[in-house]
Amino acid sequence: MSEQGLLIVVSGPSGAGKSTVISKVMSDDPSCVFSISATTRPPRGTEQNGVEYFFVDRERFESMIKSGELLEYAEYVGNYYGTPKAPVFESLNRGKNVIFDIEVQGAMQIKQKCPNAALIFIVPPSFSEIEKRLRGRHTDSESKILQRLETARSEYAQAINYDYIVINDDPQKAANEVKAIISAEKCRVEFRKKYVLEV
Ligand code: ADP
Ligand code: 5GP
Repeated sequence: MSEQGLLIVVSGPSGAGKSTVISKVMSDDPSCVFSISATTRPPRGTEQNGVEYFFVDRERFESMIKSGELLEYAEYVGNYYGTPKAPVFESLNRGKNVIFDIEVQGAMQIKQKCPNAALIFIVPPSFSEIEKRLRGRHTDSESKILQRLETARSEYAQAINYDYIVINDDPQKAANEVKAIISAEKCRVEFRKKYVLEV
């Protein structure tokens, strides 16, 4: 009997290590697929269109909002970010677990629309580590780093609305915790009740 996939939402302040941890989870667990978001921010470093994001202009993004193509969207540090709806449901129906790397406003929209989604908030071991990691990444301008740090404070306040908090001290350890959460969520009665109801 094939099981439906899970929605796994991963949020956390910029620089927490979300991308790093998610890529480890993805390479360890082939049942997981990454939800590729659309964004109006320009590509960073080695990012490629259709891999990390679909890079679109504001006009295109606004037409996606109007036509109802997005499951959720938000504005973050001056740019739009949103989740194309169709690929998410196609993956779920194929039994894949869909991992989202999205900020807190979008996470709350998903929780409202899909109450079974598992919400994970990733943080580094201390707040000061965020600035170190953002600077060490060498991908953002000084003003963007400052805006991301400012936003981080209000994001921490939202962590209380999540189901799990993962501390990213070591990326592999954090990825193992995310995989453990996925395993446990797959055993929830909500997903497994068909095994008992048919008896
Ligand atoms: P996010 O996706 O949350 O913005 P990234 O995954 O881009 O964060 O990580 C930010 C920076 O921190 C990157 O340079 C990454 O290599 C580094 N990093 C990620 N996890 C750790 C960790 N556990 N310890 C030290 N540096 C880390
Ligand atoms: P970055 O520019 O560092 O890639 O992402 C900035 C923030 O946007 C991060 O918190 C990331 O999780 C979030 N983000 C990425 N894609 C989406 C999306 O589709 N929707 C929402 N709401 N946030 C997103």
